[in-house]
Amino acid sequence: MTDSTKNTDTITRFAPSPTGHLHIGGARTALLCWAFARKAGGKFVLRIEDTDQTRSSESSMLGILEDLAWLGIEWDEGPTLEYDGKTLGGDPRGVGPFFQAQRLDLYNAHIRQLIEEGKAYPAFESPEELEARRKEAIAAKTGYKYNRAGLEVPLADRIARMDAGEPHVVRLKMPDEPITVYDEILGEVTVGPEEFDDFIIRKRDGFPTYHLAVVVDDALMGVTHVLRGQEHLINTPRHIALQQALGFDTPSYGHMPLIFNPDGSKMSKRDKDKLAKKAVKEQKIEASPMDSVSDEDFAAWLKDKTRQLASDDLIALAKVLGITLPEIDVEDFRAAGYLPGALNNYLALLGWNPKTKNEDGTDLEHFDMDYLASHFTMGGMSKGQSKFDRVKLLSFNSDAIVALTDEDFAKLWHQWAAQYDKPLAQRFDEAAMLTLAPAVKTRCKTLADGRGVVGFALMADGAIVYDGKAVHKALIKGDKKGLELLIGFKAVVEGMDDFSPEAIEAAVKDYAESQGVGMGKVAQPLRVAATGGAVSPPLGQTLAILGKKSVLARIGGCEESVYLMANKE
Ligand code: GLU
Repeated sequence: MTDSTKNTDTITRFAPSPTGHLHIGGARTALLCWAFARKAGGKFVLRIEDTDQTRSSESSMLGILEDLAWLGIEWDEGPTLEYDGKTLGGDPRGVGPFFQAQRLDLYNAHIRQLIEEGKAYPAFESPEELEARRKEAIAAKTGYKYNRAGLEVPLADRIARMDAGEPHVVRLKMPDEPITVYDEILGEVTVGPEEFDDFIIRKRDGFPTYHLAVVVDDALMGVTHVLRGQEHLINTPRHIALQQALGFDTPSYGHMPLIFNPDGSKMSKRDKDKLAKKAVKEQKIEASPMDSVSDEDFAAWLKDKTRQLASDDLIALAKVLGITLPEIDVEDFRAAGYLPGALNNYLALLGWNPKTKNEDGTDLEHFDMDYLASHFTMGGMSKGQSKFDRVKLLSFNSDAIVALTDEDFAKLWHQWAAQYDKPLAQRFDEAAMLTLAPAVKTRCKTLADGRGVVGFALMADGAIVYDGKAVHKALIKGDKKGLELLIGFKAVVEGMDDFSPEAIEAAVKDYAESQGVGMGKVAQPLRVAATGGAVSPPLGQTLAILGKKSVLARIGGCEESVYLMANKE
């Protein structure tokens, strides 16, 4: 049987610039490129656009690879990464390298071809000359457009001057007709020649511009579908002009809606700085509280809306300010304890609608990567903006956490803690987390919330702070009956060899029966003694996790607090 939706020649690509962390919008683009390729049975390529040498870094590149792998957005071709026992990427078709900085010869060969064919030309004006002309045009209110002075130099002279090393840029000679983009999401978009000028395809420093590199790479890598954010729509007519000049086919384009905050502002990394600036002003902090940022730089950052601090500095500052920065990058969501499945599910819905009903007639919203890979179509994409609803994402995440098996929860929680909460990972190994899983899972919306549920176990025995109200209610009220039962049960604990949750529950039950009281009358004083408060996971798990020695120490510590408190009353 052949499936008419399959086109194994389909090749999509995600082409991040490694100038920072992977933004959540980039992850959405990558996810849908991946889904489109999977649906067609084609290939998904990852290409690193690192021609901006001053802003690109190896650590950003590795971070992006890691984030994609963590999300499960696995690329078939591209830089290789070993992840979770798998090798991602590779170059089976021999179309690499996948780093643009390693492809300069290829770009230059294509630029040379364009120049020799008279389709592109070196232009020798200095940046100062161009700037002066731009200023004149602005003053005269005529609108600035490059005047093609470079074209006045005869072809042979142009090439000779260029080859002699005279500083220049290379510009593409744009056609004088309109260019139409047939966009699979937005429909036809036509741009007239008055909107273009002969844009630069190679800069004075000898590096190709993004436009040239992207067009050459898409063609040489056989990319059939370019799915990217709407911010690139403005570039597409230029890319089409370049494809025509180079004799390349034009791939299909789909420009995805931009992601906005609920208040309508664009969701950007600057949101973090914005919140931090507001808190600095409210808290009237004048000097830089960070060693790594000078007072001058701090003041300049505070004054300028567009200025951003480095990621680590922002995190340090947020700590000082006692604020939580909004999650913007995939890394932020990972650190905050989101599950990749929930994040992917939510991201897919940002701009895409599966247009499918659940059995109860509601819209299908919850699905996994397999569903996405077998159902994604560009027809389900919306043209308008996408709003990032954090409340909805959080509810997706808590649903996903509850749905995990205890084993999977313990594994993911431990992996998370090993990276983002080392004291927690040291305190509980995966087996201990498995014991806690049933109780913690239902009480947390993110993996990070788990710490709050088991915080009592992370404190030193002597450092428990007893909640006065809880102590009074469970231990003092009613002639200190609770305290009496607690002390009685201490002897039971001392004699226990098996300190598993089940053995503890059974011992509490037997002891309560022997004393002729309900189980709660024994359990609650114990809970307060062990945790300091009246709420904790089920008692058996709570005590088992602490271990016998710690439970005994805490019962002792609690007794003392009760005497002190009772004496005051
Ligand atoms: N490097 C570009 C970016 O990160 C890719 C744009 C494209 O997909 O063509 O925005």
